[in-house]
Amino acid sequence: MDRRASVYGKISPGKIWLVGAGPGDPELLTLRAARLIGQASLIVHDGLVSPEVLALAPPGARLVSVAKARSRHTMRQGAINDLLVAEARAGKDVVRLKGGDPFLFGRGGEEAEAARAAGIAVEVVPGISAAIGAGAAAQIPLTHRAMASVVSFVAGQCQGLGEQNWAGLAGPGRTLVIYMGLANAGAIAEKLMADGLAPDTPLAVVENATRPNARVLRGPLAGLGALVARARVVSPALIIIGAVAVLAEEPMRAWALEAAE
Ligand code: SAH
Repeated sequence: MDRRASVYGKISPGKIWLVGAGPGDPELLTLRAARLIGQASLIVHDGLVSPEVLALAPPGARLVSVAKARSRHTMRQGAINDLLVAEARAGKDVVRLKGGDPFLFGRGGEEAEAARAAGIAVEVVPGISAAIGAGAAAQIPLTHRAMASVVSFVAGQCQGLGEQNWAGLAGPGRTLVIYMGLANAGAIAEKLMADGLAPDTPLAVVENATRPNARVLRGPLAGLGALVARARVVSPALIIIGAVAVLAEEPMRAWALEAAE
């Protein structure tokens, strides 16, 4: 008998946990996330969740990947919502594991809404978002008393880039962090310069932040497209634009100069 079956034989619904897996390093999980993963019987996860984090699941757990590639959705968002709700209705506690934080560019909002609409209890466990992980990994403080007192997070994927209004988000005293900006790096630089940003505004590209294969590349805004192409930067990577980018850790700085030659 299902452990949730009541005396009347009716299965009471399970719960959906929207859990942030952080940027990759399993030591950056919250204690709550680590506990939920360690006790999970069902984990529905994104492609961004690192293998080291998934390895914390118990041997008997069922792991379902709903990885999305940029233009090739392996599972549509509606189908993911339906899967979560159906499993919870069947009495399962579902650990929905997402890279970084579930509520930052993670569609966690849509999944929470779907759960609520279906009358399923949902709880959100925050995670260290890629921007915070990348800042720490590259030793780039996203704010700095002398350099930046405003920081913005934006999504830089192709759809609607032209319509997005980023005016005022980057420039002196500000840091702009661009998620999902790789495929469109050149157009992003053009857009920001058209908005009035100086071509020599410093930037850093942080690839695989907090993972063993992390790389940091630095350069001026005008060279962003060329930098990404020349160094063959791969996903996941973040673009950090603003004066703080010059503070990237010394050994990484040396690497970036080498790469720029
Ligand atoms: N919810 C996630 C973001 C999902 S959007 C979070 O809070 O971090 C996916 C984008 O996040 C990627 O395209 C990339 O820009 C960024 N990203 C995620 N993990 C990263 C990592 N380890 N290093 C660099 N960028 C990362």
